[in-house]
Amino acid sequence: MKMNRPWIRLAATLLLAAPVAAEIVEQGIIGEGTPFATRWYSHDSEVEGPTVLIIGGMHGDEPAGHRAATQVATWSVDRGRIVVVPAANPPALADRTRRIPGLEEDAGDLNRHFPVVDGTVTPTGPAAPALWSFVVSVEPDVVIDLHEGYGFRAAGSKSVGSSIITHRRADDAAQALMLEAVNTGIEDPERQFVPLRSIVARSLARGAAVSLDAEGHIFETTTAKQPLSRRCRQHRTMVATRLVALDMIEDASIVNQLVCPVDARPTIAIYDGGGAGGASQGRRFEAQLPGCRVDRIGPADIQAGGLDQFDAVIFPGGSGSGQAKAIQQSGRDSVRSFVKDGGAYIGVCAGAYLALDNYSWSLQLLALDSIDREHWRRGRAMLRIDLTEPGREVFDTGDSTLDISFRQGPLMRPSAELDGRDEAEVLAWFRTGVGENGADPQVMVDTPAIVRGRFGQGRVLLFSPHPEKTEGLESWLRSALDWSIAEQQSTGDAARGFSSSPR
Ligand SMILES: [Zn+2]
Repeated sequence: MKMNRPWIRLAATLLLAAPVAAEIVEQGIIGEGTPFATRWYSHDSEVEGPTVLIIGGMHGDEPAGHRAATQVATWSVDRGRIVVVPAANPPALADRTRRIPGLEEDAGDLNRHFPVVDGTVTPTGPAAPALWSFVVSVEPDVVIDLHEGYGFRAAGSKSVGSSIITHRRADDAAQALMLEAVNTGIEDPERQFVPLRSIVARSLARGAAVSLDAEGHIFETTTAKQPLSRRCRQHRTMVATRLVALDMIEDASIVNQLVCPVDARPTIAIYDGGGAGGASQGRRFEAQLPGCRVDRIGPADIQAGGLDQFDAVIFPGGSGSGQAKAIQQSGRDSVRSFVKDGGAYIGVCAGAYLALDNYSWSLQLLALDSIDREHWRRGRAMLRIDLTEPGREVFDTGDSTLDISFRQGPLMRPSAELDGRDEAEVLAWFRTGVGENGADPQVMVDTPAIVRGRFGQGRVLLFSPHPEKTEGLESWLRSALDWSIAEQQSTGDAARGFSSSPR
């Protein structure tokens, strides 16, 4: 995990040699003291070259632009300078609304507050003046504003989703290269990105193109039916392609960098690709991980080794086989290597199924089999669990008996073969069961509900039920994480695993 990466070692060297993270990224605040106060990040290579300005979060209901810019803000360049403002409109982002809260129509649309009057941008509204002053001070050669539409333009949608909008004809070649890169791997022609011309009037990118003579682009991903991780990767792919073409970075592999190498916070990847539940699930998990740097991660990121920059990965509810199928064999190998080398794995419901032993697609992280597999559609219910002593320690609770939301998670028992692994340790037992669609509710009584163990150097914690969807247990995910990423393994508990009496 983190410390094994070459560029981490580089960062660590910088830490020793000089005043640090500032070496990697410089930062400051725009609009300090106002509700629109927002951070900018800059990496100056100190080698003569272009300045590229990336803006995200102009519209609060377009999360991929904001997230991708947050990821790009951790990048450094070999030539020129990259400047990023990931959250241009913080009140709208907080409310997840397009407009500035409380303002209607164009009065609330920050990306209509940069009108050009006599060749000069004359910003209006509460946030644009400070933002525009910053843009001018940066003296950008290229301005890229990251947005999202609701549909696919190539499929005939009125939305500009899945397009690159470029202002000047002179920048057509740049646009074409970015389109080629982002469309690689998009097989459905109706989902491919298309070129559009002429950026909407009174927008920041058009203002920069017209009044600062900058190369201006708006990138538009599509929110409909596409996970956040995919849309973020599309934004990063287009940005990285432009940086390569400008000779600012050597190759586009930087597209796999999502987090800052020296981020002191726990860095958590939540899987949101095929087989995972919807976007609200990811938001729920993220809300329960205060103080962490949280990113969504998808099959392409995992297959490219993207997990290695994170402390932990969470595989959430949905379908275990669906998740396994989506990440494919190469992704499954990546997850196993990640954990083996010291990464943490938290599985909830489907994510717990994925980590077990006895499916053809199993990750085989813990020596546990899924039982009564033919009755997996056994239903949803609030079920009673008993915490073991280690369970009470991990979740820091004095209560040993609790009710928890269950939604067809796995029923587990030790596998026949440990294959060199320690026995998993039970943190909680089911004491009641549910049985629909022909299942016997008694089968799950006194089977493990929550387990933990090690795989190689890494730690694994699996929930069959859903603490994150259970009122009063909102802190459990964070507690599980704290245990799974703790530096020192507290050994000696393994003997208390399945060999101990369930009661
Ligand atoms: Zn937008």
